Amino acid sequence: MDKISKEILFSKDAIQKRVRELADQISKDYEGKELIVIGILKGAFIFMADLIREISIPCRVDFARLASYGAGSESSGKVVMTKDIETSIKDKDILIVEDILDTGLTMQYLVDWLEERNPRSLKICVFLDKRKRRKVSFEADYVGFTIEDGFVVGYGLDFNEKYRFSPDIYVIKQ
Ligand code: 5GP
Repeated sequence: MDKISKEILFSKDAIQKRVRELADQISKDYEGKELIVIGILKGAFIFMADLIREISIPCRVDFARLASYGAGSESSGKVVMTKDIETSIKDKDILIVEDILDTGLTMQYLVDWLEERNPRSLKICVFLDKRKRRKVSFEADYVGFTIEDGFVVGYGLDFNEKYRFSPDIYVIKQ
């Protein structure tokens, strides 16, 4: 029995509009270049698929998977890489695409990991940013929406593997 209640935060239309704006900005910033877009599984797969179809410059894609959350909604604080990228990123322009930036620990870990491989540039695009919850000082280069504390689901984001498929984003209340 599902005892969770949820409240809509961003509708499908609002999400689509913001994704287009982000894609326009990224296309301008990387004009004349080729981008390697690295999506963070699983949460970013829907955002990344939407974003790259709106970007007007050539993109290659790869994926990494990192885990910090367990089965609930609180971070364990310990980040583990469970799937590495398969592309050589040396001297390439890299854009990491992530669903949500919370404490920043996951992103800090990934950035440190990728920086060691000497990309030409490395930027971060997150759809949602819970800026107030940050534990490491860290700013994304492209942010869809800044949100307050609260656990969000939908548009790729899950709660115990549920709700990823939802085209809207909700904040859940237990
Ligand atoms: P951080 O390391 O920044 O604390 O956590 C980043 C990861 O935690 C995200 O990639 C995401 O998987 C998960 N996360 C953080 N906040 C939320 C949230 O509100 N909802 C969901 N579904 N996942 C979250």
